[in-house]
Amino acid sequence: MTIRERLREQEPTLSFELFPPRSPAAEEMLGRTMRAIVATRPDFISITYGASGSTQGASRSVVQRVAQEHNVPPLAHLTCVGQSRGDLRAVIEGYLEDGVRDFLALRGDAPQGQSGWHPHPDGLVYASDLVRFLRETAHAHGVDDLSVGVAAFPAQHAVERYRQTALDVLKAKQDAGADFAITQVFYEVAHYTGLVAAARERGITIPIIPEVMPLVSAQRARRAAQITDVPTPQSLVAALDAAATDDEARATGVAHAAGLARQLLDAGAPGIHVITFNRHDAAVELVDRLPLSGHRA
Ligand code: FAD
Repeated sequence: MTIRERLREQEPTLSFELFPPRSPAAEEMLGRTMRAIVATRPDFISITYGASGSTQGASRSVVQRVAQEHNVPPLAHLTCVGQSRGDLRAVIEGYLEDGVRDFLALRGDAPQGQSGWHPHPDGLVYASDLVRFLRETAHAHGVDDLSVGVAAFPAQHAVERYRQTALDVLKAKQDAGADFAITQVFYEVAHYTGLVAAARERGITIPIIPEVMPLVSAQRARRAAQITDVPTPQSLVAALDAAATDDEARATGVAHAAGLARQLLDAGAPGIHVITFNRHDAAVELVDRLPLSGHRA
């Protein structure tokens, strides 16, 4: 069953995000993480894709492991950065041959040190172009049951001057053929409900799955804010800073993420997508606190 089909059911989905490992030790940790999160019976596992296709082979290998070793549908992230249409076509064809039917179409960010975003001369400019390109490439291979997700940005939508653009861009992604969206991290339920309400008014009907990130240390909270440009609540950073042990910090981060996830489910979110940082402990403890029947909780 593709993610698009699964989202038509009433029960909220449970899913996780993994990234491809960069060392043998990281590979081993990823193996442990996969086994632990698979035991929670997720609906899908998403695998990130490095800028400029830098993790292309490693991402594909994690995607294959998720599907073949664990029998969980993988959601393969794909970005436009630094790749021609030909490069992207080859990557998509490889995934299709592996039986992958679920993709998350992203633009990606400019590589570090590069000022501003410049598409590859023969590449794609926006995520919406990638949605179309994915569908065309799959169609040329006789695959029409593709399920394509895109990114949505609740914290950006909460800032008035970005609101209209955020909605226009999400609508363009839906019009290009997106079936669902997964959000960037955010910390206030109102950011999510505000985006969903405005999206529905704008004619955006696709399910929008919120991403939840259990922050297990003050250092990680600061780093997450740096990467995403979404400020971590000061009260959470202070509580993480005040924790006397790693376990106490993790419990603080998990409790915070669980509180947000519960509010999101109460508000009608179609699922919860958990960022794992390739560690299972906080992710599984979070799931154990959620009312997701059919899963482990
Ligand atoms: P787009 O929708 O193309 O938007 C990019 C910019 O262009 C925005 O400023 C938008 O306002 C503008 N824009 C879009 N369409 C138009 C238009 N038609 N006209 C004018 N302006 C337009 N990055 C990775 O490198 N690898 C990953 O695996 C990865 N996974 C992610 C997963 C999730 C759930 C999320 C939320 C983000 C992820 N990212 C990943 C980060 C993502 O690539 C960046 O946030 C990127 O800056 C925006 O990507 P996008 O897909 O939203 O791009």
